[in-house]
Amino acid sequence: MNTELMNHKIAEAFTGKPSRKEAEKAVATLLMWAGDDPAREGLKDTPKRVVDAYLEMFSGYAYDPKVILGKTFANVDNYNEIVLLKDIAFESCCEHHILPVIGVAHIAYVSKDRLVGLSKLSISYCVCFKFLATPLSILGNTPAVPASFN
Ligand SMILES: [Zn+2]
Repeated sequence: MNTELMNHKIAEAFTGKPSRKEAEKAVATLLMWAGDDPAREGLKDTPKRVVDAYLEMFSGYAYDPKVILGKTFANVDNYNEIVLLKDIAFESCCEHHILPVIGVAHIAYVSKDRLVGLSKLSISYCVCFKFLATPLSILGNTPAVPASFN
C-alpha cells in the first residue's frame, strides 16, 4: 500500500509493539501449547508465515481513512448524482477469536463541492476493516476503526 497514505501519527504513538522476533516466538509458543513441535519440518517456517499474514490482516492499524479520503478534487462539473461503488470485497478479523470475516460491501455518496476518486473510496473502505473487530461493527454502518481515528 502507498506509504504516503499511512497514519504516521498512530504508528508513532504506539510504543508497546513487540518486535517481529517476539511475535514469531509467540506463534511458536502457541504451536507448542497446541501439542506440536514448532521445529518439525512442516512447522519450522510457520511462525514467520503467521507474522507475515498478520501484517497484511492488520494493516489497517497503519493507515488513516481520513488521510486517504482527504485526497479529493473539485466538483467543477457540479456532479450531483449518487456515486455508487458495488461489490467491494473486504476481509476483517473477529476480535474475539482472531478468525477471518469475509464479505462484500457497497458504498454510495452524493457529491457536493468535492469528489473522491473511486479507488481512494475503495481503499479507504478496505483499510477500515483491516483491524480486529466485532461482528456487529463489521455488519454495521460504521467501520471498525480505533477510537483514535474518529
Ligand atoms: Zn469470533
